[in-house]
Amino acid sequence: MAGGIPDELIEKIRQGNDIVGLISEYISLRQNGSRYVGLCPFHNEKTPSFSVSKDKQLYYCFGCHASGNVFSFVMNIDGLNFVEAARKLGSRVGIDISEHVESEAERSRRRFRERIMEACETAGKYYSWMLTDSKNGARCREYVGARGIDDAALKAFNLGYAPDSASMDGLTTYLMKKGFEDEVLLESGLSLKKKYGKGLYDAFRDRLIFPIADQYGRVVAFGGRVIAAGDNRPKYVNSKEGPAYSKRANLYNLHAASTHARAAGRMVLCEGYLDAMAYWKAGVKEAVASLGTALTKEQAKLIARFCGQVLISYDADKAGSAATVKGVALLEEAGLEVKVVSLPEGEDPDSLLRKTGPGSLVAAVDGAKSFLRYQVEKAIDGANLKNADSKLAAVKKLVRIIGGCADAVTRNEMVREVSGRLAVSPDALMQDVSRTSSRLNRSRGGPAADGSVDTEARSPLMEENGLSYAIAETERAILRLCADEPGSIKLVSENLTEGFEAEGSEELYRAMYSLWEDGKVIDQRILPILEGRHKELAARLLMDKDRPFQSIDEAIKALKSMRIRRRLREIDVCIRKAEAEGRIEDIVGLQVEQKRLREILGSRTALY
Ligand SMILES: [Zn+2]
Repeated sequence: MAGGIPDELIEKIRQGNDIVGLISEYISLRQNGSRYVGLCPFHNEKTPSFSVSKDKQLYYCFGCHASGNVFSFVMNIDGLNFVEAARKLGSRVGIDISEHVESEAERSRRRFRERIMEACETAGKYYSWMLTDSKNGARCREYVGARGIDDAALKAFNLGYAPDSASMDGLTTYLMKKGFEDEVLLESGLSLKKKYGKGLYDAFRDRLIFPIADQYGRVVAFGGRVIAAGDNRPKYVNSKEGPAYSKRANLYNLHAASTHARAAGRMVLCEGYLDAMAYWKAGVKEAVASLGTALTKEQAKLIARFCGQVLISYDADKAGSAATVKGVALLEEAGLEVKVVSLPEGEDPDSLLRKTGPGSLVAAVDGAKSFLRYQVEKAIDGANLKNADSKLAAVKKLVRIIGGCADAVTRNEMVREVSGRLAVSPDALMQDVSRTSSRLNRSRGGPAADGSVDTEARSPLMEENGLSYAIAETERAILRLCADEPGSIKLVSENLTEGFEAEGSEELYRAMYSLWEDGKVIDQRILPILEGRHKELAARLLMDKDRPFQSIDEAIKALKSMRIRRRLREIDVCIRKAEAEGRIEDIVGLQVEQKRLREILGSRTALY
C-alpha cells in the first residue's frame, strides 16, 4: 500500500502506462537499439543524454542523473505527490483511485476546495476582461502603461482590474449569477459580509489585480494594488487564507517559474509581484516572490523541489538585508546553495529595471555573490575607514563573519583580500579569524581550524571526517541512557534493530539487556558478564555523567540520521563508479535507495 492505494491497483496503473508512450507526450524520443533517447526534461542540454528502457520500464539521465519509473516521472515533471500522480496515471487508463485515498469527509472537503478554485478562475477571467476590454478599466490601463507593463507581461501574469461601483458588488453579483454559493465566495476571500444589512460585497475594489496560482498553476488567491495617486487605503491587499490558499506554502509565480528554474538550475527569490515581473521582462523567467511575509520553511522546500540554487534578490534597504540574513538559514536548511543579488542602495528589481533597463538586472543576477562575500562587502561598505574606531569595529565584525565560514581555503582567501582592502596586517587578521573559527567549530562539534577533533565535543553535527567518531559517541550516549533508565533498553531493542557498531557497544548492550530481562538495575553487576576488554568500557560508561541527549528517542533518531548520512556518502561514490563503468541498472537501484534515504532524512518522524 502506498498512499492508501492497494499494491495491485498501483501495479495495474503502472502496467497500463507504458513509459515510452508516457514520456513521448512530454519530449520527443528517438529509438537507439534497445533504448529510447531524447533531450532531458529535467536539465538544460543540447545533446540527448536522457535514456528510456522499454523492457525495464525505467528512465535515466546521464547528465543530471534523474531516474525512475512512470510514477516518479509524472511526480517530478508535474510537481505532483504520489497520490496525485497515481490519480493522473490512473485516469489515463480508466482507473479511478478516489475510493482508496479519501474518506467521505475528505471528498467533500476536496470538492469544496475545487469549487473555490473554480470561483477564483472565473474571477480571474472577470478581472482580466475588466482590465483589457471594459470602459471601467481605462484608468487601470493607463496606470499599467505608466508602470511599463506591456501587453506580453500583462498576459503572462494574467493581470486584471477590480472595478468599484456604488453597490461595491460587481464581481460578487457576477459570480452569484454563475451559480457560486455564498460560502464559496466568502471562503475564497473574493467577497466579504456586509457589516450593516444583508448580503456580500467585493473584497477587491479599484485595484490592479495579480492572480496568485499554486504550484500546479491553479489560481487560488489574488493580490490587489491601489492605482490612484492619493488613494489612502493600504497599498496592497491579499486574499485571506482559506481551504485552497495558504500563504506560507505558496510563492508568487512559482508555477510559471518552475520549468525555467529546472532548466537553469536556479531560482531567483524576490519580494513583490512587480519584482518577479521585472525579472521576467529582463528575460530571467525563473523568478518568484515571497510576497512580503517572512520566508517560511515550506517555501524553501518548494524551491528545493525544482533546483539546487537560489538567488535572493530582496530590496536593497535595511528591511531587505535583514530579511536576506533570516532567509539564508532556512534556504540552506532545505539543501539549497544560496547566493545574494546585490542591487544599488535603495533599489528593488522593478525600480532598477525602469531606471536602467534589463541589462543591469541581468548583470546583477549573473554577478550574484555567496552569502559570505555579501556579508563581507556590507561590513566594509558600512565602515568609515578613515575613522580608527569605525575601522576597528568593522575588523571585529569581519573576524566574526569570516571565522564563521567552515571552509579553510575560503577563509584564507577572504583574509588576504580583506587585509588588503582595510590595510591591516594579514597575519594578525588570520590569527583572530582562526581563533574564532576554532571556537565556533568546537561549539558545533566539528574539527578545529587546524583539523584536530576536539574530544569533548558531543554534537551529532560532526564534520565529515568526524562522522564515524560521532556515531560511536552517540551509541555510547544511548548506552548511558539505557543504564540510567532500563525502560530504554526495550525501546532500543524495538527501534534500533540494526544494532550497534562501535567497538564493544553491542556486547555492552547485550549485557544490559540480560540484566534488564532478569529485572535487575544496571550497575556493577554488568561487569562479571563482560569479557576483560569490555569491562573497562562499561565501567567508564557507567561513571560518565555526560548526557548530550535529552531522551532516548532523540538519541536514537540522531544515530539513525548520522548512519543515513554516512550511507548517502557511500552511495555517491558507488554511483560515480557505476557511471564510469556504464552499469545503468545498478545506478537506478542506488538512486532509489538514495531517494528513499533523503526522504527519511527530510522527515524526522520517519526515522523510526
Ligand atoms: Zn537530465
